[in-house]
Amino acid sequence: MEAANGPVVIENEAGTAPIVLVVDHASNRIPEPWGTLGLDADARQAHIAWDPGALPLARQMSDLLDAPLVRATVSRLVLDLNRPLTSRTLIPAVSEATTIPGNRDIADADRALRIRTVYEPYHAALAALVDRHVAACQARGQANVAVCAIHTFTPVYLGKVRALEVGVLFDRDDRLGAGMLARLKREPGLLVEVNQPYSPADEVYFTLDRHAVSRGLLNVMIEVRNDELREPVQHRRWAKLLCEAIMEAMGLRPAAPLVDSGPEPIRRTP
Ligand SMILES: [Zn+2]
Repeated sequence: MEAANGPVVIENEAGTAPIVLVVDHASNRIPEPWGTLGLDADARQAHIAWDPGALPLARQMSDLLDAPLVRATVSRLVLDLNRPLTSRTLIPAVSEATTIPGNRDIADADRALRIRTVYEPYHAALAALVDRHVAACQARGQANVAVCAIHTFTPVYLGKVRALEVGVLFDRDDRLGAGMLARLKREPGLLVEVNQPYSPADEVYFTLDRHAVSRGLLNVMIEVRNDELREPVQHRRWAKLLCEAIMEAMGLRPAAPLVDSGPEPIRRTP
């Protein structure tokens, strides 16, 4: 299933939508030589290790949009791919209220190994995919290409309950985010906010800055509360709504009406 120990997998690379979906926190896998990082099984399953629900949501979106999907296969506790190398939370010694023993006082050689084997190949693969996809889209006459980062957040953070259901995050370039927000605000009862529960000021826009803003591509980050993404029916419902919002914001028309796709589709093998 998973490609050896590589930190990145690309799915649906031949997808024809002018959109690249990115899931930096898709996996809670801790590869060797990092063992468990000193954490018990519960901590390694918790949201501090990954974004639960983000990958099945993004896969549904990839299917509905016919868009390539780039996903990490390594836990954010080994190294957070969505951070600059200078960030203090690149290799977190504490996440929320949990100490990560394997990240305390790590040796320079360990830090360098994580960067060389996880960070650099991930961002190199993502950069190459974006380049290839932009070229393919331009060849089809699709002028505007978007990079959309999919994340999830925990409903309770440091004891505080979050009512928000979905956050639309963007920085100075609001071409995609503002349009998506307009669609989501029309959804009855939906609790949606801009730049909540995080914002670009929290360093969470790194992947998009590096791969989309730097190229002048449309960009947006989506954060869905993870208790909304526990069941396949929820993945499908959210995917349909978010895809409608993206397509409306980009002025795209679906090839066929977006519908809940019934049972989970059989996945392509990466
Ligand atoms: Zn995330």
